[in-house]
Amino acid sequence: MSKLTGSELIAATLKRQGVHVIFGIVGIPVIDVAEACIQAGIRFIGFRNEQSAAYAASAYGYLTGKPGVCLTVGGPGVIHALAGIVNSQINCWPMVLLAGSSDTDQLGMGAFQELDQVEACKPYTKYATRPSSLATIPFAIEKALRTSAYGRPGACYVDLPADFIQAQIQDPQYIEKVQVAATAPAPKYLADPEAIKAAVDALRSAKSPLIVVGKGAAYARAESELKALIEKSNIPFLPTPMAKGLLSDTHPLCTSAARSTALKQADVVLLVGARLNWILHFGHSPRWSNNVKFIQIDIEPEEMNSNGAVTIPLVGHIPSVLDQLSQASLPRLPDSNAFLKTIKSTVHANVQKGTAKAKQGDDNAVMNYHSAFDEIKRQLPSKDIVFVSEGANTMDIARSVFDVHEPRCRLDAATFATMGVGMGFAIAAQVYYPEKRIVSIVGDSAFGFSAMELETAARAKLPLLILVINNNGIYHGLDNNDYQESRSNNTLPSTALSPDTRYDLIAEACGGRGWLAKNRKELRVAMAEALATKDTTCLINVVIAPGGRTKLEFGWMTKKGGEAKL
Ligand code: ADP
Ligand code: MG
Repeated sequence: MSKLTGSELIAATLKRQGVHVIFGIVGIPVIDVAEACIQAGIRFIGFRNEQSAAYAASAYGYLTGKPGVCLTVGGPGVIHALAGIVNSQINCWPMVLLAGSSDTDQLGMGAFQELDQVEACKPYTKYATRPSSLATIPFAIEKALRTSAYGRPGACYVDLPADFIQAQIQDPQYIEKVQVAATAPAPKYLADPEAIKAAVDALRSAKSPLIVVGKGAAYARAESELKALIEKSNIPFLPTPMAKGLLSDTHPLCTSAARSTALKQADVVLLVGARLNWILHFGHSPRWSNNVKFIQIDIEPEEMNSNGAVTIPLVGHIPSVLDQLSQASLPRLPDSNAFLKTIKSTVHANVQKGTAKAKQGDDNAVMNYHSAFDEIKRQLPSKDIVFVSEGANTMDIARSVFDVHEPRCRLDAATFATMGVGMGFAIAAQVYYPEKRIVSIVGDSAFGFSAMELETAARAKLPLLILVINNNGIYHGLDNNDYQESRSNNTLPSTALSPDTRYDLIAEACGGRGWLAKNRKELRVAMAEALATKDTTCLINVVIAPGGRTKLEFGWMTKKGGEAKL
C-alpha cells in the first residue's frame, strides 16, 4: 500500500483547481509542498525574497485572470509576502498566499516562526483561513481561489499547519475521497436595464463625451467589446496607465496625448473598470469640470458614487455591460463635434512636441530620459513587447513615450504606487508570455528593491530585458563630484545613491548578461546585442544625467497639482 502525505494532498488539490505555476520560497515546513507540486507537474519558481514572489503572483493573477499562487514559510515569510497581498488587494487582482505555520499542538507556545498569520492577513484579504483538519484543506484552498476571483478580485490566504503538511495518510483513496470539484469560472452579471437607458440618454445629450478605460477592463478582457463600442459611437477614450493597449495607443480616438484637455472638457464620462481615486484626481475640479457627469461600469456596487461623484451605476461584468450599451442605440458622435476636433488637434500638437524632445542629444552626448528612451524605442521591435515600468520619473516619462498596442502588455507600480515590483512583475509576465519580449524600464532606486531576483530570472532561463535608467538617485541624483563632496561633509541628500553603480555587473554575477551604456551609441549596440540574446536575462545599465529632472513632477498625483503626463 502506497503511503500519502499531507503535502501530496495539497499538491493534488492545487492541480485539480487548475494551478500551473507557483511563485515562492521554500523552507520548513513548505519545502515538502513545493516538492510534491513539482512532482505533480506544477511549475515552481523559487525567488530570493517573498516580497518579489508575492508581487509575481499578484501580476500573474492580473495577466491570467485566475488567482496567482504564492507559497512561503510562515512568520517572516508571511510578513514579507504581505507586501504582495496588499498590492493584489488594492489593485483588485486575484491572488492566493499559502504559507506554512506552526504545528497545531504548539500554538501560543513560541513555536518556530510562530505568528497568527490569519489575523495578520485578514485586513488585506477577502478571505483568510486556517483549515481545521487535513480533510478540510481542499475546501479551504478551493474557497480561497474562488473568493479571490469572484466578484471584485482580491487576495486570499490559507494557513498550512506543519503537522497537516507532514501527516502520513494510510488510505490510498484518501485524496479522491476529500477532493473538491474545480471552481467554475466567475459568474457574469448584467447591469440594470433602467440604468443602461439612463446612461444612453446621458451619452446622447453629451456635448463632449469621454470613455475612460481602466485596468479593470483589461483584467476583464473587454478589448473586443470596447473596440466595438468606441468605434460605433466615435467617442474618444483615455486609457489609465495599465489600460494602455486595450485599444492601440495610436488609435485615432485615443486621447492620451491630450489627457488634461480631455479631463477638463468632458461633460459625460463613461468609466470602464477605472476608479475615481488619485489616478483620476478623485473626479474633482480643477482637473475635471465642475459639472461632469459620470457613468460607471464596475463589478463592485460599493464603488459607485465614490468621492462625491454623482454616478449612473452600471454594476456588472464589463464585457457584458459594454454589449448592453452597444445594443442600445447609442448615437455616433459626428466628426464635426467641437470636443472631438479639439482633442484631435491637441493630440497632434503634443505628439509633435514629443518628437522634438526625442531628438535631443547626439550620439556621444550624456543622455537624459528623452534621448535614452528615444534610442530604446528605435531599437525595439514594433510588436510582441510587454512593458514593465517602475520608478518615479522613469515610469512617468516612459508611459508617454512607449506606445502599447496590445491588451495587458503594460505592468507598472499601479494603484498602490509600489516600488520594487519590477522584477516580480517581469518574471510573471515572461512566464505567462513565453513568446513575447519583456522590456522592464525601471529607475535605479526602484530596481534596487529587488535586484537579487536577477538570479531568479537567470536560473529560470527567462530572457528579460531590464533597462535600469540610472541617474544615481531617487527622483534625481548627484554627479560624482557633488556626491563625493557631500559624502565627505556627511551631507548626502536622502535621495542620493552611489554614482557609477554597476547594475550590469550584478546581472553578470547572477548568470545573466550585462551592458553599460553611457551614450546613444553604446545604448544602440547594447540594445542590439541584448535583443539577440534569447537564453538568459539581460540588463542594460543606462546612465543618464543625474539631474535629469530637477523639479518633481508630482502634480498628477495630487488633487490640485500640475500637468499630467500620460
Ligand atoms: P485603474 O487604476 O486603471 O483606474 P482600478 O484598479 O482603479 O483601475 O479599477 C479597476 C476596477 O475594475 C475595480 O473597481 C474593479 O472592481 C473593477 N473590475 C474588475 N474586474 C471587473 C469585471 N470583470 N467587471 C467589472 N468590473 C471589474
Ligand atoms: Mg533614479
